[in-house]
Amino acid sequence: EAKTRGRGRAAFFDVQLRERLQRYLELEQDLRSAVDRGELWLAYQPIVNLHANRVGGVEALLRWTHPVHGQISPDEFISMAEESDLIHHIGSWALSTAIEQVAEFRTRYGLDLRVKANLSVRQLEDPGLPEAVDEALRKSGLSAKSLSLELTESALMHDPVTATRMLRELRRYGIRLAIDDFGTGYSSLAQLLRLPLDSLKIDRSFIDGIARSHDAEALVNSIMAMAHAVDLAVIAEGVETAEQLEVLRRLGCDQAQGYYLGRPAPIEDLAGTIDLADRRMRIE
Ligand code: C2E
Ligand code: MG
Ligand code: MG
Ligand code: MG
Repeated sequence: EAKTRGRGRAAFFDVQLRERLQRYLELEQDLRSAVDRGELWLAYQPIVNLHANRVGGVEALLRWTHPVHGQISPDEFISMAEESDLIHHIGSWALSTAIEQVAEFRTRYGLDLRVKANLSVRQLEDPGLPEAVDEALRKSGLSAKSLSLELTESALMHDPVTATRMLRELRRYGIRLAIDDFGTGYSSLAQLLRLPLDSLKIDRSFIDGIARSHDAEALVNSIMAMAHAVDLAVIAEGVETAEQLEVLRRLGCDQAQGYYLGRPAPIEDLAGTIDLADRRMRIE
């Protein structure tokens, strides 16, 4: 009897595995034409400046609306794109679209808004990237200092020599650079701080407990002190409550981003999203 049950379970896992593989292969195939079909779009999340008490920028986040499967998480489809060369096509589309849309938005609303965009580790391999970004900036009229590119700790540490060369080149054009998801990697802090960077985003797993636990607060406080000591601006991500925002403000955090301040939204809703975040800051 046990044998039959065992076999049944094996068959069940087999079906599950096959279904997952099938979905993967199907999505990977569809992703190839997603850009050309207009299925990819960017959501923008407000980032507040905690010294000025207002929105100072936005982060552009990729979205894929699949015609059959609906919203696919970027964590799923970006790693898919990274496994093929597709990431270069998708990455440069996202970057130039973010630059273009934010430039247009700034002109329309007369706002001095900065834009943060995410770079994949694979894009560091592309020696043509800095020039391509520069060209997109020129075409849009956005100044380089209004653009900040985010790289995760693991992306920076994957090949520090290549990363350093790329960061220096991007900086030569005046583009700002940030470490994303800080604290989730296992990189050497000393090595990380040697890179030419402008800001550090503390991963939301560290922000989660700061209103409940003194240890969590102390940890964030020490990350912040260390970052400030080497002149990096600090951004807290994943701020979900007023209490967390209050702690961050008291600790001297520079910028904050999270569902409490505003969720990522399509460009059509950005003016309203910024307005809500600004009002939230005035009530505080
Ligand atoms: P990320 O760059 O660290 O982006 C922050 C993620 O946290 C976003 O997830 C955002 O929607 C989410 N988030 C923001 N505030 C909160 C909050 O208060 N609570 C919680 N629980 N989550 C919050 P999303 O949009 O699903 O993106 C996931 C990741 O996909 C990004 O993490 C980034 O690494 C990657 N990604 C997104 N767009 C791009 C892109 O254009 N290029 C590349 N290479 N990667 C991208
Ligand atoms: Mg990011
Ligand atoms: Mg992040
Ligand atoms: Mg992340």
